[in-house]
Amino acid sequence: MTADIIDGDAVADAVRDDVATTAESLSAAGVEPTLATVLMGSDPASETYVSLKQDDCAEVGIEARDVRIDGDAPASELYDAVAELNDDPDVHGVLVQQPLPDQVDDDEVVRAVDPRKDVDGFHPENLGRLVRGNARYVPCTPLGVQRLLAEAGVDTAGADVVVVGRSTIVGKPLATRLTTKNDSGNATVTVCHSRTDDLAAKTRAADVVVAAVGVPELVDGSMLAEGAVVVDVGINRVERDGESTLVGDVDYESAREVAGAITPVPGGVGPMTRAMLLVNTVRAAGLVEGVDVALEAV
Ligand code: NAD
Repeated sequence: MTADIIDGDAVADAVRDDVATTAESLSAAGVEPTLATVLMGSDPASETYVSLKQDDCAEVGIEARDVRIDGDAPASELYDAVAELNDDPDVHGVLVQQPLPDQVDDDEVVRAVDPRKDVDGFHPENLGRLVRGNARYVPCTPLGVQRLLAEAGVDTAGADVVVVGRSTIVGKPLATRLTTKNDSGNATVTVCHSRTDDLAAKTRAADVVVAAVGVPELVDGSMLAEGAVVVDVGINRVERDGESTLVGDVDYESAREVAGAITPVPGGVGPMTRAMLLVNTVRAAGLVEGVDVALEAV
C-alpha cells in the first residue's frame, strides 16, 4: 500500500480563504481584527516565526502589531507590554512568542495574557474550558491536526488513536479534544511518552497515530498497522549528506508504504498551525467586540 498524502498546504489555503472572508465581514461591521505578537530577544527561529505570522495576517486582512523587547530587559518590561495590549481595545489577539529568556517565568506570562485575547489557547482558563468540553480557543496545532483528520475523512468516533507526546501545547490538548464527546472527538485515545513501555505495540494497534515528539523519524513503517492514518507534527532539523534538512517524527519513506494516509514534513501540520492562529484571531475579534463570527475550523 502507498499512502494518500494529506496536503496541509492545500487545506491551510482553504482555511485562509475562509478567514479572509470573515475578516472582510468584520471590517464591514467596523471591526479591524488585530493581532499583536510580542517577541523578547533575538532568537533567529523565533524571529522567523514572528515574521511569518505577521505576513500571514497581512495576507488575510488582519492588522498585525509587532512588539519587540530587548532580550536583556527585566521581565517586568514584558509583563507591562502584555498588560498594555490587554487594555488596548483595538487589539484582539495577543501572542507572546516562546521560548523566552531565562529571567522570565513562562507560566506567569501565559497567565498574564487576557484569556479573551489568548489566541494561542495556553491560558489555564482556556485549557480548563477545553477539558470541560466548552473550548473557547483550541491551541493552533491540535486544531490543525483535527482539521487534517476531518479532511482525510477519518471518523474519529470509536477510533483507536495513539498520540505520541504529552506536551501542554500539542499532545495533551489534542488527546483531550479527541476524547471529547462531539463530532470531531469520541475517539479512544492512548497518550504515549518517553516512559511508555513498548511504544511500537501501542502504535501498531492504532487506527490513527499522531507523532508530536521532537525525535527525528521515531515512528517507522514497522510500528504501524496497515492502512493507519499518520499525522506527523514533528519538525526536526537534521544533517543529511552534508546538508541541513527538515524531517518529522515519522520515517516518511517506510511509513507511507504501510499507512493509508500520511502528512508530509514540510507541508503537513506546519501550515495548519499557522492558519489556525488566523482562525483564533478573527474569533477573538468577534468575542472582544461582541460580534458574531460564524467560522468553524473543524
Ligand atoms: P515537547 O518537546 O514539549 O515534548 C515531547 C514529548 O515527546 C514529551 O511528552 C516526551 O515525553 C515525548 N517523548 C520524547 N521522547 C520520546 C520517545 N522516545 N518515545 C515516546 N515519547 C517521547 O514537544 P512539543 O512541543 O509538542 O513538540 C514536538 C515536536 O513537534 C517537535 O519536533 C516540535 O518542533 C514540533 N512542533 C511542530 C508544530 C507544528 O506546527 N508542526 C507545532 C508544535 C511543535
